[in-house]
Amino acid sequence: MNKKSIKDVNVAGKKCLVRVDFNVPMKNGVITDETRINGALPTIKYLIEQGAKVILCSHMGKPHNIFTKGFGLTKKEKKAVEALPIEEQAKAKEEFLQKALKDKEKFTLKPVAIKLAEKLGQEVKFAEDVVGPCADELVANIKDGEVILLENTRFEQGEEKRDEALCKKLASYCEVYVNDAFGTAHRSHATTAAIAEYGFVKEAVCGFLIEKELSVMADSLENPVRPFVAILGGAKVADKLKVISNLLEKCDTLIIGGGMAYTFLKAQGYEVGTSLVDTEQIEYCKDMMAKAKELGKNFYLPVDAVIAKEFPNPIDAEVETEVCSVENIPADKMGLDIGPKTIELYADAVKSAKTVIWNGPMGVFENPCFANGTISVAKALAETTATTIIGGGDSAAAVTTFGLADKMTHISTGGGASLELFEGKKLPGIECLNDK
Ligand code: ADP
Ligand code: MG
Repeated sequence: MNKKSIKDVNVAGKKCLVRVDFNVPMKNGVITDETRINGALPTIKYLIEQGAKVILCSHMGKPHNIFTKGFGLTKKEKKAVEALPIEEQAKAKEEFLQKALKDKEKFTLKPVAIKLAEKLGQEVKFAEDVVGPCADELVANIKDGEVILLENTRFEQGEEKRDEALCKKLASYCEVYVNDAFGTAHRSHATTAAIAEYGFVKEAVCGFLIEKELSVMADSLENPVRPFVAILGGAKVADKLKVISNLLEKCDTLIIGGGMAYTFLKAQGYEVGTSLVDTEQIEYCKDMMAKAKELGKNFYLPVDAVIAKEFPNPIDAEVETEVCSVENIPADKMGLDIGPKTIELYADAVKSAKTVIWNGPMGVFENPCFANGTISVAKALAETTATTIIGGGDSAAAVTTFGLADKMTHISTGGGASLELFEGKKLPGIECLNDK
């Protein structure tokens, strides 16, 4: 990799603003998964050991419009207000705004500061604002080896807008900018890229997490050992369909499963019952199948499916299932996993692969009735000698649940970021850093 890392600069005694990914899942103020905090520890510990002054920042969740965009109500809220009789509108609007302000409690990073202090075995000072008086004072008094965590960067409207004044202010807090938030490296926001792009910081380098992700992924994807197989699945259909066009140019074989498959099957003229379909993307799917043909790439779609009457609720509820070929999906049923013939087809297709990237489960793997497809593909990957790279939160969780994580070459911490790398895109959070 040609970007500088924290090892390439002198950080001793220097104020380092470190963009980390502390966007952890929370329930009622309790952190339910600490993976992302753990992912940031090597960089933080190294900086402490070197005697740097460590100022951490991160976003957390998606707080209401009024924080992120500076608007009042969201479109949906506005609609709800406008549907009311005129004399009730003012009160309803006020109620929505009051509720939005509660997002300050819901999306605060304070619990992360407490958890991080536990993990580091030292105090983590929490700033109740991002660039306000509280942050000012803590930063002014920080000593070598100390750690501060700033409040959720998305409480600043300028974060997503790449606001210059916000970047300048944050830059005034530091001598070195460190990006270690791989999960947001594909986003171009104030703290993820703009602060360095604008040239407000003298030194902009990556941390160990980004370095590790890139060294495995960028290296194996730049000149992939072929055959190079890409497997896409999952439920974020619109997002993931977008990457197919670029991906087709890179890979030799593209395999589609999960919820994504049904938009393609529909585009091929099949009736897919009540399966997940993005009707706006049908034409695009047709184009992609034509593109695959034109480029001479192998393109696999399911030939059979495990179907049920409805989506399981709760997700692990036992439901009645049946297997049918994709020509015969009844109008009142939905496909929730790939069927046995498809499993065989896909497992066979990855056997001779030398590089495999996988994003998105093959079915509703959270439910044992629909987990077979995902388990079987994971096993097939575990058995190859290929370089295997898994991206996507749910895909990573699936592989871990099945006990196959250590059989994979790399499991990425960034879903969207890894997808964009798979496509061969440059990530703004990495492009903005200083070259070696
Ligand atoms: P990742 O997090 O790996 O990027 P996604 O978030 O896109 O993956 O999708 C994961 C979700 O997709 C899982 O919760 C799974 O239950 C769901 N899913 C997989 N196949 C289907 C399907 N056929 N219909 C509906 N949902 C599906
Ligand atoms: Mg997901």
